[in-house]
Amino acid sequence: MSGAEYDLIAIGGGFAGLPAAARAADLGLKSLVLERDTEDRYFCNSRITSGVFHVASNDVRLAADQLIPAIEAETAGHAKPELVRAIAENAASTVDWLRGIGVKFVARGVGYVNMRQHMVLAPPRRMRAGLDWQGRGGDFTLRALEAHLMAKGGTLRRGAEATGLIIEDGRCTGVEVSDGGAAKEISAPAVVIADGGFQANPEMLRGTVTGAPDRVRLRAAPSATGDGIRMAAEAGAALTGLGDFYGHLLSIAAMSNDALWPYPNIDIVAVAGVLVDAGGRRFVDESRGGVYLSNAVAKLDDPLSATAIMTRQIWDQVGTDGIAPPNPLMLDHGGTLIEAPDLDSLAAAIDVPADQLKATLAEYNTAFAEDKLMGLSPVRGEGRHAAHPLDAGPYCAIRLCAGVTNTMGGIDIDNHCRVLTPDGGIIGGLYAAGSSTGGLEGGPNVGYVGGLIKAFAFAMVAAEHAAAAKALNS
Ligand SMILES: Cc1cc2nc3c(=O)[nH]c(=O)nc-3n(C[C@H](O)[C@H](O)[C@H](O)COP(=O)(O)OP(=O)(O)OC[C@H]3O[C@@H](n4cnc5c(N)ncnc54)[C@H](O)[C@@H]3O)c2cc1C
Repeated sequence: MSGAEYDLIAIGGGFAGLPAAARAADLGLKSLVLERDTEDRYFCNSRITSGVFHVASNDVRLAADQLIPAIEAETAGHAKPELVRAIAENAASTVDWLRGIGVKFVARGVGYVNMRQHMVLAPPRRMRAGLDWQGRGGDFTLRALEAHLMAKGGTLRRGAEATGLIIEDGRCTGVEVSDGGAAKEISAPAVVIADGGFQANPEMLRGTVTGAPDRVRLRAAPSATGDGIRMAAEAGAALTGLGDFYGHLLSIAAMSNDALWPYPNIDIVAVAGVLVDAGGRRFVDESRGGVYLSNAVAKLDDPLSATAIMTRQIWDQVGTDGIAPPNPLMLDHGGTLIEAPDLDSLAAAIDVPADQLKATLAEYNTAFAEDKLMGLSPVRGEGRHAAHPLDAGPYCAIRLCAGVTNTMGGIDIDNHCRVLTPDGGIIGGLYAAGSSTGGLEGGPNVGYVGGLIKAFAFAMVAAEHAAAAKALNS
């Protein structure tokens, strides 16, 4: 190990890789970030994030003993306890560290169930249709991280693609790199995989997230091609929870219209009405929220066959709520709202069998009136998102697509973000952070803990463990 070129190499220059290298540099490690993209402001999810810092929709600054039950509840006990603790115990200190290196936050009310106050990376994006990232929180924060890394003697190398891991005697000792097209090997006793998941790799999405990757919308940068997961698997790592993703429902027009992603999303009205498939039947519990619903839509035989049905009243009242309301943003930017006075004409307009659509809504309305929504199949829960009666027109419908923001599953890690093998062993020197990791999010609720905290907090944990390991070995 002695004589290695670097102490720590991070694969990927997003909010997992850059802070891992920067924190390691703080602690005296010679750090390198490999970033495949060549652009100064390379496009990645961290660059275009909305920047809302939260832990399972809670304030990141809450005490660990408040965050732990919140994560457990959100993930229905699916999250690995050691990862729950790692997030909860490092959330507040991660924010302190970011503030210390010049990252700025603003407090914002965010959400459409209740406008909870959250810390948001500053300057916050404007909640308009389409992307809005230049000079916004993600962009500003990446530049602050790079400046800090350089001030501490670290290096961010653009145009450097990690192609493989160097494994010697079961330990990771470096990275194979295509650097400006030239193949080379770079050695380090600690390597952090932080390449952002696999949402931009259709072949990896097929059979995990969806059966039809060409019929879901990448609601993200096209940078996450699953290289880290592939390299880790080749090195013997365990993978976990590959089927779930963080995302939202979008208008089907977003498949070809960039003004309709990442905002406006359609969640707010979808959870107030019903979702039907091509046969006019409900197929999911609408009360579970937009992340869950987008996963259910992605897993339909045809993910482009789902339609949200609501009354005109829901569209006019609920649809105008929230931070980026679909009414009027969707209409103003090319999305289609289908309107009909009654269910026969609505069924014709969305091309589903009228008899079945009427039966679906009749059953739903009876259950609503008799307070028996939990008796429906699938059930219609009464938790987070209130049900509304759908017994009088005029009706509205929105044809949907699933917007895939980032995969939730990936490389199995322990509480120090060390990469695990299927038998629970550790691949020495190999860490993973951010969207390339699994074991925290997903499960039966498709629980969402937060992409930002998963990137930043795991980055801190990995860097601090690598620094401690170096101290022990010297
Ligand atoms: C529109 C949008 C809004 C979001 N809003 C929020 C929010 O409000 N709150 C929240 O908590 N989360 C949010 N997220 C999620 C959050 O931004 C991400 O989960 C997080 O930024 C991921 O960081 P990462 O470093 O893991 O991945 P990334 O930011 O994707 O970075 C990975 C980097 O690795 C590079 N790379 C890939 N392969 C290689 C390779 N082989 N070699 C070298 N480099 C490679 C890529 O080019 C990329 O730059 C949002 C995401 C999006 C897209």
